[in-house]
Parts: sequence; structure tokens; C-alpha cells
Amino acid sequence: MAFGDLIGQRAARELLQRGLRAGRLPAGLLFVGPAGVGKRRFALAVAQALNCPVAPAEGCGACAACQRVERGEHPDVRALSPDGAQIKIGQAREAIQFALGTPFEGRRRVLLVEQADAFNAAAANAFLKTLEEPPAHAQIILISARPDALPATIRSRCPVVRFGLLTLSEVEACLARQGKRPSADLRFLARLAQGRPGAVAGLDLEAFRQQRRTLLELLELLGQGQSVARLLKAAHYFGKLERPEFEATLDILAGLLRDLACLKTHAVVGPGEDADETLIHTDIRAKLQALADRFTLERIHQALARFEAIRRDLTYNINRVLALEAAFLDLTASV
Ligand SMILES: [Zn+2]
Repeated sequence: MAFGDLIGQRAARELLQRGLRAGRLPAGLLFVGPAGVGKRRFALAVAQALNCPVAPAEGCGACAACQRVERGEHPDVRALSPDGAQIKIGQAREAIQFALGTPFEGRRRVLLVEQADAFNAAAANAFLKTLEEPPAHAQIILISARPDALPATIRSRCPVVRFGLLTLSEVEACLARQGKRPSADLRFLARLAQGRPGAVAGLDLEAFRQQRRTLLELLELLGQGQSVARLLKAAHYFGKLERPEFEATLDILAGLLRDLACLKTHAVVGPGEDADETLIHTDIRAKLQALADRFTLERIHQALARFEAIRRDLTYNINRVLALEAAFLDLTASV
């Protein structure tokens, strides 16, 4: 996909295109922004623009070189991502060797470092040296959703390109490109994405709705403020999920609670205001409305904060079952 065909992120796009056209893109760049908003997509577009023989500095998106960049098969473009939780020194050395090499067939060697915040100390040091004295034909793009976790020495070497959340219609346009889906599904997915099309790419909607039903039952239990035994059972069930599924569960839960808060707020504002503007789960609005009646706004916010804290603490390998048990019991105790 050529530069001009990318969706959204106008500021980032203009900045990069100006640099490319002037032939003055800094050798090391740091792309920051939430996960799933297109940072990698834009980095690939830069790689295409740097190596496309048809439209130099722009990228045509259609020639053999652009297509190979797209498929990850271009010999002068490589992506580095963490091996497990970290980017290790061996990986970093190999990637740096690649970046320092002479291009095989393109004009520039392009190295994308995904989750650059996962550098371990030795790998970060190795990269720092390369960023201090980059060879003329190397382009290094560090990508991170958590730039604060990067060593300050690395951050200070790389100009930052910021990526933000996409608008609802931009997300819808992105999703429409990824494959055919009924338009009602597209609209729902776009709401669900909350500005991050990558967050819902390839989502199995049927499985999602099933999981959502289970979580609505959980919220009903929490709203009743009894059935401790069932809540503990639920904590065990959700807490035992693999981490990605567990995180997805917390995300769905947060979305549902956000909708409850939204319905509550609009109930106060009055019927003239339309909550549908901001609601994610518009398809089950009646059900959510009934559920919202069981919670005070304060408790909804309390639950949101609680689950958000669990998500944050996942970095420390917490016991998920115990964390959920404590959260559920606290939340029912305040009914
Ligand atoms: Zn091309």
C-alpha cells in the first residue's frame, strides 16, 4: 500500500513525506502511539518509498519491490521483534549487521524494530552505538506503544513521530479494506476498535459475542451483590485463561462498563441526548440499560479502575485468579 493510500494519521504522514521528498529523513526514527493504529503499516510505507524504483520517495505500492516489502520478502527490509519477552543481544547484533550492510538491490537498508521498548540493556546499548553513527544507507525505525520504557539515551537519538487514535470512519475504512464483512458487522467492529483498527483485525465476531454473553452474566452477578460462590467460580474460570485471552476479556469488560457509565450519564442528562453516539455495544442496548439500573455510576467507575489496575499489574506476573477474586468481592461488598 503506497503512502498516499494510507488512512488517517495526517500529521505523521505529512512529516514523513516531507522528509522523504527532501531526502532528509533522520537515520533513526521512533514511531510512538497506541497499539493497532498503523505504526508498522507506516513504517513499511517508508521502506517502500525508500526502495521503490517506480516512484522514488513516494512508493507506488504496486511494483515488485513494493510488493515484496509488503510481504516481508524484500532483501533490504527487515523487521526485528522480541524473542519471548525481550529483544536480546544476539538478535540485536544480527539486525545491526544487516542495517550496516550494503543494499542488495534497493537504495536503503531498512530495519523496523517492533516493540522497541522490549530491548534488554545489552541490546539497547548495541543499538545506541549504531544510532550514534548510522551509515548513510541505513534507515532504522523503532516502533513502540510504551516509549517511556525505552532508555532515555535511545529516545534522545531518534526524532519522535506520533501516531494517534483513528476516527470511527477511518477505522471503518481500514477494516473494509481488510476483507468483506456485512456492513453492520463493520460498523460494530469499528466501534469496538476504539480508534485502533489493529485491535479488532481478524476478530471472530461469533466467539466475541459468546464471550460477551458470559461477561454480561458476570456483571449481573456483580450487580446482585450475592452469590459469592458463583463469583469465586467465575474468578477461577477467567483467571485461568491464557494471558492474551485474559487481556481480551478485560478489554471486553472495560468496554461494557464504559457503556454502562455512558448510559447512566445520559440518563441524567436527559432523553434528548443520544448515547448511541458514544456507545460501543449498540446492538444490546436494552440489555445494558437494564444492567445499568443495577449499578451506581460510582460503582461502575470503581469497577473500571479495578480492572484497569489488574491489567496494569499483569506486567508483574500477578496471580490472576486471586486478583479477580479480590476485585469481585470488593465490588459486591459495596452494593
Ligand atoms: Zn513501487
